[in-house]
Amino acid sequence: MLDTQMLIGANFVAGTEAPEAVVNPKTEETIVSLPDASPAQVDAAVNAAAKAFQSWSRTTPAERSGLLLKLADAIDREAEGFAKLEALNCGKPRIRVLQDEMPAISDCFRFFAGAVRTMHGAVAGEYMAGYTSMIRRDPIGVVGSIAPWNYPLMMAAWKLAPALAGGNTIVIKPSEQTPLTTLKLAKIIADIFPEGVVNVITGRGATTGNALINHPRVAMVSLTGSIGTGQQVLQAASATIKRTHLELGGKAPVIVFDDADLASVVAAIKAFGYYNAGQDCTAACRVYAQKNVYDNFVADLSSAVKEIKFNQANDDENDIGPLISKTHKGRVHAFVERASQARHISITAGGNAPGGKGFFYEPTVIAGANHSDEIVRKEVFGPVVSVTRFDDVDQAVSWANDSDYGLASSVWTSDIGKGMATAARLHYGCTWINTHFMLVNEMPHGGLKSSGYGKDLSMYALEDYTVVRHVMVKL
Ligand code: NAD
Repeated sequence: MLDTQMLIGANFVAGTEAPEAVVNPKTEETIVSLPDASPAQVDAAVNAAAKAFQSWSRTTPAERSGLLLKLADAIDREAEGFAKLEALNCGKPRIRVLQDEMPAISDCFRFFAGAVRTMHGAVAGEYMAGYTSMIRRDPIGVVGSIAPWNYPLMMAAWKLAPALAGGNTIVIKPSEQTPLTTLKLAKIIADIFPEGVVNVITGRGATTGNALINHPRVAMVSLTGSIGTGQQVLQAASATIKRTHLELGGKAPVIVFDDADLASVVAAIKAFGYYNAGQDCTAACRVYAQKNVYDNFVADLSSAVKEIKFNQANDDENDIGPLISKTHKGRVHAFVERASQARHISITAGGNAPGGKGFFYEPTVIAGANHSDEIVRKEVFGPVVSVTRFDDVDQAVSWANDSDYGLASSVWTSDIGKGMATAARLHYGCTWINTHFMLVNEMPHGGLKSSGYGKDLSMYALEDYTVVRHVMVKL
């Protein structure tokens, strides 16, 4: 049975506004229609969170840790159910959610359960004679969290875990396209956490989301989504000077030097340029291949990409699923069509949407792209990788850094010194050397420039979701 109700305080309730269809991207059928939360319901959720903050913010790290560990265990017990539901709502292969996402999700709660008990800081002492100073890290208040549709449950975990560990209370809004796993999570959370600590509301961005980010009692807004929505959050934040935490996508450069291990790079880009149908802000989508390896790289990648499995009747055989929506499929195809009109570009794999039901798009390689081309500069957020030839390291670094985005990047070479030296020159929140895409809960994830700021995962996220205070005592 689907969980379709929002959690406001201790109550499970339906929204009262216009319903939005939640669609299965593989069949194009409506799974369920869910009404938006009204502004009054958003207000009730924020008030419930503000009331709960009074006591939750005073709990000990050990108490919060205990509940986060319980939640992690409950998620593990329900992993199959969550994986099925995420697969239904996003079109992802169920096995990929079960094996790749679910362990990382429960581990995220476990990491922050441990992290909050071992926070470090400046040393207390008499920095002025006769006075002792100490540093505290305290919760911020009510956090309004807005999640995207590409990894709905994982993004909920990334937002909930550090915020709860830090002693904040939360109102979270999943994407109107993918609310189902967060609503299932709400059922589990309500049995573990005190009333009002976590509230889940559903609805469109322009209405429900807008009411949440503008609410005067929300002290911090955390968003994973588009740059445009990030700008809306910043505007809303200015009225009451809210803290903001923004993850707004990327266009990851992949620098492949002539001395790279070709088979490894091709296997990695086949996997991590197309994982989740490329709907990933770290996707290895913007390749710069050095002049001598370029031709072999394009040939081998194009053959490899044609082997990516999608739309097989047996879902366990699929590597990737469809795109999230018809609109998004149209957007991705429009990028490819515009690129294909340039005479210097050749589409060496894919380039079309197959016929039949579902928002599928063929894994696509766009070879011969110039650094100035739209396909190299704009985030496509689909199974589309561009390849551009470069001459030397300075050109590769300058092209890689010449981007509005600054989230993730990678460097491929058999010379580790060259890899390290190149990584040091890249303006990205993360640079991988001879790998791509790997995230661990202990290490930060977050960007520079238009990719936003603020870290998800790691101790740095716990710092982002707490505030530093100085307390001084006269002796
Ligand atoms: P979006 O920013 O519109 O949606 C993300 C979330 O923000 C959703 O929950 C949505 O309801 C909410 N939202 C939208 N407008 C809002 C508003 N005015 N106030 C408050 N909340 C609002 O993103 P999208 O349209 O679903 O996707 C468009 C593009 O965003 C993608 O193609 C991709 O480039 C990018 N994107 C990035 C990520 C990422 O991981 N950084 C994830 C999803 C999408």
